[in-house]
Amino acid sequence: MKKRITTLFFFIIILSILITTIFMTFIFKTSFDKQAKSNIQLSTEAIALSYNHLDSFNDLAAYSLNNLYITLISSDGNVLFESNTNSTDGYLNSPEVIKAINTGSGEDTRVSSTTGYETYYYATKLNDGNILRTSMKIDDMYFLYNYAINTIMIASLVLIILSCVLSVLLTKRIVQPIEAMAHNIDDIDKNIPYKELEPFVLSIKNQHLQKIENARIRQEFTANVSHELKTPLTSISGYAEMLENGMAKNEDIADFASKIHNEAGRLIALIGDIIKLSELDMPYSNKDLKTIDLFLLVENTVALLSFNAEKANIKISAKGSSCFINGNRDMLEELIYNLCDNAIRYNDEGGEVIVSVFKSDNCTVLRVKDTGIGIPSKHHERIFERFYRVDKSRSKETGGTGLGLAIVKHIAIQHNAKIKVFSQVGHGTQIDVIFPSIK
Ligand code: ADP
Repeated sequence: MKKRITTLFFFIIILSILITTIFMTFIFKTSFDKQAKSNIQLSTEAIALSYNHLDSFNDLAAYSLNNLYITLISSDGNVLFESNTNSTDGYLNSPEVIKAINTGSGEDTRVSSTTGYETYYYATKLNDGNILRTSMKIDDMYFLYNYAINTIMIASLVLIILSCVLSVLLTKRIVQPIEAMAHNIDDIDKNIPYKELEPFVLSIKNQHLQKIENARIRQEFTANVSHELKTPLTSISGYAEMLENGMAKNEDIADFASKIHNEAGRLIALIGDIIKLSELDMPYSNKDLKTIDLFLLVENTVALLSFNAEKANIKISAKGSSCFINGNRDMLEELIYNLCDNAIRYNDEGGEVIVSVFKSDNCTVLRVKDTGIGIPSKHHERIFERFYRVDKSRSKETGGTGLGLAIVKHIAIQHNAKIKVFSQVGHGTQIDVIFPSIK
């Protein structure tokens, strides 16, 4: 970036200097040319005015200053005075003299046959019919101009060198604060050098914080998973060791085997939930969504869980009618299952679970309502975190993995659905999942 900015600056400056120089030279040349010729013309007219007062033509020599050559020609072509004695120019046929004879004055620029230099000539007709002609070498006329142009060229060169140094310094000044920002991402928003960078910097900061948060969540999750796996594995290992060493009495063997079976079951459930969560973490395409009757899925799940509910002496029922949403069937079944399973597991003997589906405003609501133990309000936000449990022992006793609601939350997000929790300790819990209706 630095190189690009420097080059850009450099080009802009060089271009401006070049354009200015060319423009100035052109204007200067045109006006100087006019000025120089007009000076010669004015001098000639001034000499013409004093001509009448001259005692002799040779007195004209006094006016031949600053390399101005003077020639006096009679109307029939005789040279009456000549300041440059070596002149071999033809006179009467020179364009400026012809013009002077005809119109009073004339000018011409050509290479002088005497000197071999390009020369400017001006001729004027005097009162007595003689022609006064003056001439000056272009080099002499332009002496000052050439001097000025050389000075302009040197000044431009100095400016170009200066601009090189300035471009590098300026680029450094512009880029340095941005580089400084990159060195301290944590406090990147503390010292934003340019207002225009604010949205960009804030978005970087947010991404950075998000990355840190994700890393923290991942680390915490790994630590939790290791811990969750370790407990059942330690139990399994302990019971297996006792069986192996023959330490278990014959009547305990079946009990130990059943404990190993249960712990293995918990491990399988846990690993199953971890796999589901990691699948849900993958980027999800909306294309996989199909039109699905939410109520039909609820009826199926209620039927599937009715045996478990009956075992716990809990009544479970589905209410409502067909309601269609855009969704993924497997995910939605998982969501309904987890909510109903919790409503049964955290219920009281003789309790009830009502699962209803209905339309409300522009949404379709799935409501799982139980008459169970309830959740204290301070936990409402956190129960959707991975491995967050309100009642740890009950969760484990009933085969909970601590991941059920985390999966529910993920699935809801994938379906653009919102979750609302209403719960009162001792009275029961109601969890609403609000899906957007089909457009
Ligand atoms: P778990 O596998 O432990 O049930 P979840 O993620 O499904 O994990 O739920 C998190 C916690 O939220 C549970 O441990 C439980 O304490 C609480 N919880 C969830 N659903 C209910 C409910 N219907 N009634 C009371 N508490 C609940």
